[in-house]
Amino acid sequence: MNELRKRLKEVNRIFGTPTYVYKGGRIREKARTLRDAIPYFPTKVLYAMKANSNPEILKILKEEGVGVDAVSPGEVALGLRHDFFVLFTGNNVTDDEMDFVAEKGVMINIDSLSALERFGSRHCGKDVSIRINPDVGAGHHSHCITGGPESKFGIWHSQLDEALEIAKRNCLRIKGIHQHIGSQILETDKFLLAMDVLLKEAHRFPDLEFVNFGGGLGVPYNPEDRKLPVKRLGRMMSDKFLKFSHNYGKPVTMMIEPGRYLIADSGWLLVTVNTVKRNPDGRVFAGVDSGFNHLLRPAMYGSYHPIENVSNPKGKKEEVDIVGNICESGDRFAQERKISRVREGDVLAIGMAGAYGFSMSSHYNLRAKPAEVLMEKNYFSLIRKRESIYDVI
Ligand SMILES: *Cc1c(COP(=O)(O)O)cnc(C)c1O
Repeated sequence: MNELRKRLKEVNRIFGTPTYVYKGGRIREKARTLRDAIPYFPTKVLYAMKANSNPEILKILKEEGVGVDAVSPGEVALGLRHDFFVLFTGNNVTDDEMDFVAEKGVMINIDSLSALERFGSRHCGKDVSIRINPDVGAGHHSHCITGGPESKFGIWHSQLDEALEIAKRNCLRIKGIHQHIGSQILETDKFLLAMDVLLKEAHRFPDLEFVNFGGGLGVPYNPEDRKLPVKRLGRMMSDKFLKFSHNYGKPVTMMIEPGRYLIADSGWLLVTVNTVKRNPDGRVFAGVDSGFNHLLRPAMYGSYHPIENVSNPKGKKEEVDIVGNICESGDRFAQERKISRVREGDVLAIGMAGAYGFSMSSHYNLRAKPAEVLMEKNYFSLIRKRESIYDVI
């Protein structure tokens, strides 16, 4: 931590704040850990690039041999620019968007009967994948699964006969089936349960080249969170898939689409405290030069992010509300957080900010987006320039 703190302070000295900092070595390590955890061959890991689509981050993951899961034409275009294998999982896509993706030669993962019909009528004879909503909303797992009756995603599992019929009528070959059961999952049984459901349906599709189990692999944001046992999960998924592939009669590629797992713990948002407000009731507000326009997760999901005062690590601990500069009272990174005494000018490092940080940032309040810096063993590199307000207006 000491070494890291020193380097983060160095980033602040060179680039200032607010700045996202990513540790390249950690991204590589995560990609390798995941690859080594899954013995089944062939397995393809698609990086869900909506988690963080900085081109320099993409380059690192490209070197690690992953493909990408793209969820918009913009992501498809960026993925192709960097020579990735791309699978497009769209949701409520227009005909134009489908045409765009098809013309690029990218396979589309279709998530409604309507889209399947429309795609088929325009692109007869193409290969497609379909996203299935498995009815695993029942039982004690329901709250963690983005399937089930309230989810807008996927073709409802009991409508697969219709999907097959539409595909046949339009000479579409269903080469893949897909599901994405949820996010930030820390227990292996959720994945394995959902796998069973999809694999049971898989036998109805004679042309499969892959089965894609989506992303959702969780990371411990809070030191009290448990850690997903990736090794065990990889082994159990492989065992299950090997059995399936054997029964299916030909080798099928297993795919997964992690976003958060690969990048969350490689990133920090560095911010500077500019205003400390000590109210008579004892509440302390540490106001910083950033806000939910840069890191939305605490405001949007109530998410926990670890925060360290890198300028005063040995200071006496106190309870502080760490708040931003946006005109909304929900603009808070942490409430009543025990942290080393904050002084104006101190730099705070908000951890676990690599995924769904910069990629969810906005210009709300007409504030500029932060810089992004890649931290390698022997150098720092600015991988996105800080915006000025004139870029925004
Ligand atoms: C967001 C998304 C993912 C990745 O989710 P994580 O929780 O970041 O792993 C994977 N697949 C699809 C289709 C997604 O939309």
